[in-house]
Amino acid sequence: MIISTGTASGKSLAYLTPAVTSCLDGGTVLYLTPTKALAADQLRGLRELRITQLRAACFDGDTPFEERTWVRQHANYVLTNPDMLHRSILPRHAQWSSFFRRLRMVVVDECHGYRGVFGSHVAQILRRLRRVCARYGSQPVFLLASATASEPGAFAMRLTGLEMAEVTSDGSPKGATTIALWEPPLTELRGERGAPVRRTATAEAADLLTDLVLAKVRTLAFVRSRRGAETVALTARAKLADVAFSLAGTPIGGSSSTAFAPAGGNPGALPLSGGHAIPPERDISPLPSAPHPGSPDHDVPMASRDHRPSLSSPTQDTHPAFSTPPPSDQGTRPAPSTRSTTTPLPDQGTAPPGADQGTLSWGASVSVPESESVSESESADWADLPDRIAAYRAGYLAEDRRLLEKALRSGSIMGLATTNALELGVDVSGLDAVLIAGWPGTRASLWQQAGRAGRDGQEALAVLIARDDPLDTYLVHHPQALFGQPVEAIVLDPDNPYVLGPHLCAAAAEIPLTDADLPVFGPTTPNVLDDLVTEGLLRKRPAGWFWTRRERATDLADIRGGGGAPIQVVESATGRLLGSVDEPSAHTTVHTGAVYLHQGETYLVELLDLEAGVALVGGAEPDYTTFARDVTEISVLASLRSHDLGPGSLHFGEVEVTRQVVSYLKRRLQSGEMLGDEPLDLPPRTLRTRAVWWTLPASEVATLAQEGFDLGGAAHAAEHAAIGLLPLFATCDRWDIGGVSTELHADTGLLTVFVYDGHEGGAGFAERGYARATDWLTATREAIASCECERGCPSCIQSPKCGNGNEPLDKRGAIHLLDTLLRSASAAS
Ligand SMILES: [Zn+2]
Ligand SMILES: [Zn+2]
Repeated sequence: MIISTGTASGKSLAYLTPAVTSCLDGGTVLYLTPTKALAADQLRGLRELRITQLRAACFDGDTPFEERTWVRQHANYVLTNPDMLHRSILPRHAQWSSFFRRLRMVVVDECHGYRGVFGSHVAQILRRLRRVCARYGSQPVFLLASATASEPGAFAMRLTGLEMAEVTSDGSPKGATTIALWEPPLTELRGERGAPVRRTATAEAADLLTDLVLAKVRTLAFVRSRRGAETVALTARAKLADVAFSLAGTPIGGSSSTAFAPAGGNPGALPLSGGHAIPPERDISPLPSAPHPGSPDHDVPMASRDHRPSLSSPTQDTHPAFSTPPPSDQGTRPAPSTRSTTTPLPDQGTAPPGADQGTLSWGASVSVPESESVSESESADWADLPDRIAAYRAGYLAEDRRLLEKALRSGSIMGLATTNALELGVDVSGLDAVLIAGWPGTRASLWQQAGRAGRDGQEALAVLIARDDPLDTYLVHHPQALFGQPVEAIVLDPDNPYVLGPHLCAAAAEIPLTDADLPVFGPTTPNVLDDLVTEGLLRKRPAGWFWTRRERATDLADIRGGGGAPIQVVESATGRLLGSVDEPSAHTTVHTGAVYLHQGETYLVELLDLEAGVALVGGAEPDYTTFARDVTEISVLASLRSHDLGPGSLHFGEVEVTRQVVSYLKRRLQSGEMLGDEPLDLPPRTLRTRAVWWTLPASEVATLAQEGFDLGGAAHAAEHAAIGLLPLFATCDRWDIGGVSTELHADTGLLTVFVYDGHEGGAGFAERGYARATDWLTATREAIASCECERGCPSCIQSPKCGNGNEPLDKRGAIHLLDTLLRSASAAS
């Protein structure tokens, strides 16, 4: 059974009731979650039930060895993750025999996280689990819980290999959510090749977070990166400190009566809060996207913007404004009017944020100068404002996370900036607004994140803030791609031989494989088994297939991807270990000169030593971020499928990619302004993967050349935008895929644009691109054409990871190139 319903709709209760009942009846339950944090959360909830017969325990990498025996022998509700099941529980199934014999139920929570390569591995781990259970005579019920997904039953069947019933109707009470699509303005700043620079999504998010906290709207800001989340929190705190400071120093006696107007009485508010209900599973009519704010006043330094009235009307200030949703606890609470120069509300009598929450302090101590016109209680309230914003991410210690969650629930924290660590079921309720800085990758994630807003059935606000990126640009200009669309199906491919092979070895090591087992692992199993025998990994005997090697078979599967030993991040002055980064991403995240954030502290990487596996960092406060750039070469190993596309042709096949990080780009933190490109000396990495590519014949190319287009630039621009748009069709991340374009490729002899999977063996993304090529390339063309820049910018054809420094690029040429390919394509079809 799979339950696929919205955030906070009661999924946990739905599986807990039968699960706990099973335990009381003498059975056992296995609970799987993608993260240790979520397991710890669940364990706390189970212990709060205070049922003595329920012996719940976590079994993960943090479980002390002396406790593990107790868990195996006595626990009847075991909480773990797929990694632990793969590496420890299944290989040592004999030690768990009494647990497996009584196993009644397997709960797979937050299972929408099991997609792509990771999901395919988990699918095979669950098949191994089923086989081990059968060995001990148990046939547990699989109960899956997922965020809203399209065709959840079909997904659940691919994940477990079992027939699955689905529960999708969500009867939980929910208020209306207003969704705003927000496009930050182009600024006067000039970036690479003179391109205009759009204000950053994080800068806009910090502004909005500041404004909402001043209006006492409890807000959660989702930011893509940990670094971004910390930047948003720090910026909003600094802005609130400025506000507190200026208010403390400004006489306001008597002004408070005129400074505020009723929330409903602001005629200048933009029509963003139309009160449309947005239940994600229902079709709704498209909402207008945020009117485009074109004023250059967004580029003035942040500090001077702080004193403008927040949430103001556009007649006074061209900053895009919206009216706040009704405050949840006091419907008549006044909102700031356009003429106010002081924005914080008078003390509402709520307790100030816990002075006892000392561990949440970010060190931005605020001193309020004495002022006769400000009463002590008011100044204390303003001085508290910066402490009402914090940042949250998965890497924090459990106690810190609990404190933050508690503070948010109680209202002593009004604004929290977070990565999607919070998306995974951690219990945060009582929010009024959600800011989403940058497209979260899927419509399912968007609705999941937006669903965090709205407490006790009240109205809520969710704002999607576009990043300087082709996909985000496309979405804020094409709301129909978001609204009235079903959420994505969850893509996974358990039959990928790169995934299946290692799990067949692991399964054979657990219990030798027989013919009867083959259907469990899917239709490609016989072929993959033959290959494994040929490679000498398995041995075929009359009784079946055996693992006879000394190594542990489970080491063959690297289920979270990555591979290679992690790089340790060490503070050079103290020798303190800050954390670790997996080897492939070390080239892009902790290269020499990279800005690295850790728990709110900013570091500069002094040296990346790949041989020693160490990145040495030192504390610093640079006002820029860094982006690694790579150059890529690609060669075609085999074209597996192809067909005509207009006058050209489209291919899907195997390629070898050689990537080398060659430099890094510095961009100013708040403005996004480009500060320069620094060279790096890192070794190339080779990847065998799959790609989709298209070619255009020489005759067509000659025609375009005669019209004066730069063909290399046109192909390059089309490649960048196509990479940006593929995530809309393939549920991947822009950073999961790469591309190469050339006017003349050695293997095809033609103008060619490649887009490839960034994972060894491929992950299904390029294949989706091949299947949806016409839609994908049409959206790519639209994204380029709908950007208002003249010759290309990061919102359309420039890429922050371009190893060629975004040179050459031809925006109009790219549109014509895609038109050539697509006009004939639609005529032909
Ligand atoms: Zn542009
Ligand atoms: Zn490029």
